[in-house]
Amino acid sequence: MPKPQETILEIDLKALKHNYEYLKSKLTPNTKFLAVIKAFAYGSDAVVIAKHLENLNVDYFAVAYTNEGVVLRDAGITTPILVLHPQPVNFNLIIERCLEPSLYNAKVLKEFIEVAQKENQSNYPVHVKFNTGLNRLGFWENDIDYIISKSEASQAVKVKSIFSHLAASEDLDEKEFTQNQINTFNTIKNHFIERIGHEPISHICNTSGILNYPDAHLDMVRSGIGLYGFGNSEVEDKNFKPIATLKSVISQIHKIGPGETVGYNRAYKSDSLLKSATIPIGHADGIGRQYGNGKGYVIIHGRKAPIIGNVCMDMIMVNITNINCEEGDEVIVFGKNPTATEFSATANTISYEIITAISQRIRRVIVK
Ligand SMILES: *Cc1c(COP(=O)(O)O)cnc(C)c1O
Repeated sequence: MPKPQETILEIDLKALKHNYEYLKSKLTPNTKFLAVIKAFAYGSDAVVIAKHLENLNVDYFAVAYTNEGVVLRDAGITTPILVLHPQPVNFNLIIERCLEPSLYNAKVLKEFIEVAQKENQSNYPVHVKFNTGLNRLGFWENDIDYIISKSEASQAVKVKSIFSHLAASEDLDEKEFTQNQINTFNTIKNHFIERIGHEPISHICNTSGILNYPDAHLDMVRSGIGLYGFGNSEVEDKNFKPIATLKSVISQIHKIGPGETVGYNRAYKSDSLLKSATIPIGHADGIGRQYGNGKGYVIIHGRKAPIIGNVCMDMIMVNITNINCEEGDEVIVFGKNPTATEFSATANTISYEIITAISQRIRRVIVK
């Protein structure tokens, strides 16, 4: 790779393929694979990722919000797209763009059926979400009769899948809870199929569900974080390759004398002679203020340079006193080393948060 001349997020499509194939190797051949590409494909580039996965014959996509699905349709993606968290205001748009809603309560079920009827739809594919313990979105088991009577009274929709979501699939101390969620969902599934008389696709596993609960893969699995290179454990992380590397460049180097300060609010006070480097990335780019004042660090020539002082909107300053480097040299924020998991741990958070936080003003550079 040539040296970056500004802050960039490099996206490695070979790593994406590796992760996809690793996850697929955990499945039986007839288990479908849904790729979760919400939030700009976890901060990378949803259209690029979707096109690549479509070429690799992924079965399904999911996004969180309707607008995210519209962007994919505008880009020519034809694979079915499940919208995990739609709002009634977008139901016409969902139908217009052939997106498939998750129906998670009586209000959205009723309103979606009304819109589908008005639009003269028949058998429009919908997905029914059940709550099995996350207590976020979803019907309860005892709503099955209501759901079926509502959807059968109308020819406008057809239940294409039923699903639930695990609360702690990555946490092996919560195996009993997770197994309970899976058992509850299996009961719901059997009851649902018996009542509706056809067999919708059933799915409950996210990435850590795929890795830790092989008996719960059912008809389809939904993976997000794994595709982007994280296994949510030290052991599994080794089997994945992070697809995104956040790189930058040294804009300026300063010599700071004893008693001088660095940055806003004079938050860093030097007690000796030191060298600082200013890097063009800040809290507006997703590096929150919680990484400031010695918590987070970047890598320059393979060595750690801690962030000193407060994170600014468009810049950080790092301590390079013991690093032999020049203005224009490459800076790594996260990628292979440190990984986003390691970088985010310095501010007590997780890979999911830091990778999805990288702002859209940072140019994505696709590596094929
Ligand atoms: C985000 C999301 C996923 C993906 O989870 P990962 O842990 O990233 O694999 C799966 N299902 C639902 C309902 C989600 O909201």
